[in-house]
Parts: sequence; structure tokens; C-alpha cells
Amino acid sequence: MSNQLDNEDLAQAINRPLEEEAKEAASAEFHELLDFSHGDLDGDSGSLLAKIEDDPTLSFRTSDQSSYNDNRWLYATRSGEKVIVTFTSRLAGGNELYKQLIYHLIPEFHPYGKVRSYRSTRTYSYACDYLDWYLLSPNGLDATPESIRTITVPMINRALDMARDEGIYRHYSFLYFILAFWISLSAQKLISRELRLDIPLNKVVTKARQKSVQEKVAAETQGWKPYTEGELSSMVEYALFWTEEAMPTLMEIRDFIVESLSVHKVGFLVRSKPDLEIEEMLGKKVKGVTVCGYETRPTKAKITSSSGRELEYDYIAYTWKNNYRVALDNVMQGILVLFSLITGLRSSELAELDFDDITQSGDGEYTVNVVRFKTSNDPNYFGEPDAIPLPDFLGEIITQFKQLREVEVHMRTRKVFYCAKGGKVASIMARSIQKSMKRIGEVTGIDGVHPHRFRKTIAEMLINRSERNIDVIRMLFGHRSYKMTLRYIARNPYIISSVAEAIETHYAQDFINLVSAVQGGGYSGSAAERIAAKSAEKPLLFKGKLLRMTIYNYIAYLIEAGEPVFIKRASVGVYCVSNDEYSADQLPPCLEGKCLSDGPIQPDTSNCKLDCKNAVVLSDAKGELEKNISFYRGLLDGGPGMLSRLSRREIERQIKINEVHLSNLGNTKCFGKASVVAGDVVQ
Ligand code: SF4
Repeated sequence: MSNQLDNEDLAQAINRPLEEEAKEAASAEFHELLDFSHGDLDGDSGSLLAKIEDDPTLSFRTSDQSSYNDNRWLYATRSGEKVIVTFTSRLAGGNELYKQLIYHLIPEFHPYGKVRSYRSTRTYSYACDYLDWYLLSPNGLDATPESIRTITVPMINRALDMARDEGIYRHYSFLYFILAFWISLSAQKLISRELRLDIPLNKVVTKARQKSVQEKVAAETQGWKPYTEGELSSMVEYALFWTEEAMPTLMEIRDFIVESLSVHKVGFLVRSKPDLEIEEMLGKKVKGVTVCGYETRPTKAKITSSSGRELEYDYIAYTWKNNYRVALDNVMQGILVLFSLITGLRSSELAELDFDDITQSGDGEYTVNVVRFKTSNDPNYFGEPDAIPLPDFLGEIITQFKQLREVEVHMRTRKVFYCAKGGKVASIMARSIQKSMKRIGEVTGIDGVHPHRFRKTIAEMLINRSERNIDVIRMLFGHRSYKMTLRYIARNPYIISSVAEAIETHYAQDFINLVSAVQGGGYSGSAAERIAAKSAEKPLLFKGKLLRMTIYNYIAYLIEAGEPVFIKRASVGVYCVSNDEYSADQLPPCLEGKCLSDGPIQPDTSNCKLDCKNAVVLSDAKGELEKNISFYRGLLDGGPGMLSRLSRREIERQIKINEVHLSNLGNTKCFGKASVVAGDVVQ
């Protein structure tokens, strides 16, 4: 039967759920922002001013391990994870103001009862920097009461516009959040009188501003799409250059630095003439790219001799630390690409990774131990520990990277994805990941690089089985076959759930249609019989909400078993439901006689044959089946001499197949009661 599938409709049907998901994510992010920033008072919200009054030394606790007057507030989670909120503002009055604001973002003290995690406290505490960057410093202000009194609505609007136009992820929305939060706390007299921002909330939280912030959040989260083949290849190429090709040279440079340069604590070396050894070692290139590099500064120095004579001489100052940091960041960014692709971890999970989280077992297998965070209403929810296997090559690269990092004391942070350049933000790891992703985008020429997109990419790749992308992944894992890659991926719960989610998103409706139609008895085909039999075995699993779970589990099970999954509408009322792995000598009817390229073989639904065991025919197909029968009868009626005997037999067979399906659809069936199978129609 020729297929009338409307590709545009199908593309839309596939993309719509993904876009919906992106919109949902953006909407959730925006509403969290609103919920956290202002609202009705909830519980013991006036505690801070009372505590300050009772204890002018400010030594009251903000957590079990910290006092209000500490510049680091430490929170220990159940899983042993430490969350640290730091106050390092250099602005006059900055830490005083920020502490009063951030105190109210601690779950126990949030005045609107919405913040439930210390991680949120820390994340939203970063917004204080944006007050400084966009509002205070550009207006020559600090955070003293005198400056705060001079802040006006136009100043705030200019700051917000600037943050919006700079286009850096979250600056605009977070600045909007912290301003609304500050104004709201001020209006509710929850912070000290002299630190209050005396601006009406409705001058900042206007409808137009809300809309603009929401649009920005939506625009930013909309970018979470799978990477194209070209984008993925560019990123993997970049990653492999720094982690495989440049790494040995960088290790040599590291050894040279440790042996010859690290003794010079001042960070530069003075030579009276060019030092060829330094220049040769630090200037090493791989494929024309300088791996580390160095800077020189010719200068003159004056000294006074013991006889009192003033002497002037030329010297060269060599510096290398900044160059080395850039090289470290290039390797780290390469690892970040591979790691995101292979593990599918979220940005917040990547940010928390420590070198100690990557372990090697006695038999040499590498594992990354992570804490997974899902939505929870439980304020004591600190995530769930999980372990994901890592390919050997990645484990080894990370081990070498750790050695590269150990060159200088200030480079020895435990966080794997710490940005060495601009190290002042060491504690703000989420920003470090964003910065790295932005930098990866810059060097590879790709917009909107985001960890979430790596998960999407793997999921889409496994669903659509794009050959080139699968080759990239297979090559990365070092697997000989797609099946091996599937089995490996099946050990990663992140990827499994991501793939199952994506498949469910793409195909849930189709699957529900299928199951509902099968349950209603309006079906035909042996694949439909199989679904009917499963439904009959466990009818409860195939109803309502549980049906969605069934789809999810079914798909996860197939992936875990190393089975490809294929559910696709072939034409009106006809679905291909296949989990067969095909080979050149064992092809489904739609591929028989076709010239196939290398790589995984998947059904060609544009050439679907209704006698195939994978075809599920539903009631909607009745019209098409009738048209087919009439078309084939028309051919037969064309005249006995017009057709060969072979052609006539084939046409008669097609009529029979269509008639069998039509007849099956006409007979309402009970679960498990088999109908005549079209595939049994003899040649
Ligand atoms: S595998 Fe069978 S059901 Fe699927 S497209 Fe090919 S012929 Fe149709």
C-alpha cells in the first residue's frame, strides 16, 4: 500500500511535544522566580530584625555550622553534600545588605514559605552580584544607606533594560527577582529600616516587565533542542582535540612547570636574554594550535650599585600562569562536552562534581557518583545518590586532568568543572558551567550550548537512529556495534529515563491511540494481536495513568534489553510497531529489494506493507483499505490481457490482505481473541 504520510504533519507532531516541554520548563522557572520574590507572609517571617535586636554581635545561627556574622554560611545535607553561601562583596555595605536579603532565602526563614532547598538559597544568592553589576556600580553607588536612598525607579528600569540587552543567561530574570524581593522585604518591614528600598513594588513588577522577563526566560529555555549532526561533530572534534591530541603535550608542559617554573612564586620569570628552553616548552603546538603559550614583557630595570652608581639594564619578564589557566579551561571544556554527552547529567549536577566523585573499581571500571535532584516538596530532600558507569577513556582523561590542575595551589580546586580563568567565581559553580558552555559555543560557533541539550541529543539519536550521530557515539564509547552502545547506555539511569521520556513524549499519544483502539476491539494485524494479548494479561496496567507508566517501562525495558524501539505512524490508521533488529538477509517487507546504506536498519514506513507482522491497523484505516480494494479491483477490471499471471496473483493477494484487515476491523473482538492475520494470506 502506498503511503500518504504527510511529513510536515509528522514533523509537527514530533516537535510539538518537545516545544511544549521547553515552554513548561520556562514557565516553571518563571513562576518559581515569582513565588520566591514576593507574596503573602507565611509563618515566623519577622525573625531577623528581632534576632538583630536581641544579639547586636550578630552571632546568632543561620545554620548548625554558621553564624550570621560569618561570611560563609554552611549547610550540610543528608547525603553529606555541603552547600556554602558566601558573602564576598567588595562594595561598601554590600555584605550587610546581601546578608539581610539572603537570610530570607533560607528555607526556614523564607517569608513566603516557598524556598525549600538550601541549593535554591545559594543559587538565588548569586542575584546579589547583578544588583552590583547593573544597578549600583553603573550609577556610582554602593550598598550603604546613603546610596540606597538615592535609588530611583528610572535607575531600576535602566538596570533591568541593561541586563535584558546583555543577553547573558539569567542575569535579567535574576536581577528582576532580587529587585522584587528587596522591595517586597522592605515594604513588609522585614529588613533594617536603613537598608530598605523604598520603591513601590508595582513600579517594578509591572505587567509589561513581567511579560518581558517571561519572554526572556522562555527564549532562553527554548534553546534546549538536540544538537544537529554538524554541531555535535564540531563539539566532539573540539573535545577530542583538547582531551586526546593536546593532552600529552600539556602533560609535558605541566612537568616542565612543576620542575622548572613553580619555584618562582611571584608568577613571572626574569631573564636578561630570551630563554629558549622556556619558549620552546611553553610554546609547543599541536596541529598548529599553541597548547599553552606564554607572555613576555621587555622592560628596563634600574639598580644602584654598591658604589652608588645607577645602572640600567634590559630584561625580559616571562609570565605563563594565565596561559596555563586558559589551556586548563580548554581541556575542562572538552571533558565537559564528553561528560555531558555520555552521562546526560544536568547543569546543577555537573557543577557539584568533585574529582573524588569519580572512582575506579578494583577491576578498573570507572564510575561517577552523583546526587540526583528531582522536584520535591520535602524541605529535607537532599537528592538521591546514583552511580553511572564511565567509559575508560573518559576516566583516564579526568585522572590526567586532575594532575594538570595540581600545578599551583590556587588551581587545586576539587570541582572538576571549575573555570580556572577568572577563578574568583570558584564557589559559584553553576555560573562556571554556564561560562564554560558559552565558551564552548564561542569556539565551536554554536549558539545556545546547554547541558540539557546533550541529554536531548542522545535521546533523539536513539529514537531516530541517525546514523552519523550514532557513529559518533559508538566511536566515543569504542563499541563495535550499535547494540553494544545500547546495552552500555542501558546502565545509565539518566539516559534511560531521558530516552524513555523522549520516546514517550513522541509516541505516547500514538501508543495510547493504539492501545485504546485495540482495547475497543477495532484492530487488525499480528502486532495488534500482541498488544491485545498483553492488555488481556494485565488489563489494569493498560488503563488511565498507568498506561503512561506502562509505555515508559515497556520502552525502558526494550532499551535495557539492547532492543531498538520503533513506533511510527505509517499512514492513516496504520502504525509500525517494531522492536526487531534487522540485518541485510532478514529485512521487513518495506525494505525488501532496497539498497541499504551501512548502519542500523530501520523500517521504511513510506513503503509499509499491510501483510507485515509489525503493522497495526486501526479503525481509522477503513476508508484507506476500501480505497485500496477498489483501486486494485480497477486494475483487475482493466482487461484480462493487460496483466501477466504473476501481476494478477499479486493484485489478488493485495485485495485479500486489505479485505482481511477490513473484515477484522468489522468484527469487534475481545482481548486476546485472535482475528485472521493478514500476513497469513498466501501468495
Ligand atoms: S516493518 Fe512492517 S509495519 Fe513497519 S513499516 Fe515496514 S512493512 Fe510496515
